[in-house]
Amino acid sequence: MSYDPNNIFAKILRGEIPCKKVYEDEFALAFNDINPKAPTHVLVIPKGPYVAYDDFITSANAEEIAGFARAVSKVAQSSGVAQTGYRLISNCGVNAHQEVSHYHVHVLGGKALGPMLVK
Ligand code: AMP
Repeated sequence: MSYDPNNIFAKILRGEIPCKKVYEDEFALAFNDINPKAPTHVLVIPKGPYVAYDDFITSANAEEIAGFARAVSKVAQSSGVAQTGYRLISNCGVNAHQEVSHYHVHVLGGKALGPMLVK
């Protein structure tokens, strides 16, 4: 799948759509999910144009990958969930119900999240 520059997260990165920003550096932007599934639900996105995890890992350079991974950790720390525990989710493709085709990691926490998946 090729990257669609008109996806909603690309528009957020370009400042065409507002977001509730919680963190930004040269590699990543993090903002509150518009439809939160937990008391803390932050989306962390790389600044480069990557569709999903595989595209990011194969196409991004080592600095981008390391910078993004560190940004996810910084968000978990600064949002307060690192102390009590949190879940990282990255939906990739159709079976995972990925809705936005710009790679992103969900940082979820702020309560006991229960089992990972409901059968
Ligand atoms: P996914 O299913 O992993 O692609 O998740 C996409 C997420 O983006 C969902 O949790 C949506 O609630 C969230 N989302 C969609 N549009 C926006 C937006 N404009 N601002 C913040 N979050 C959004």
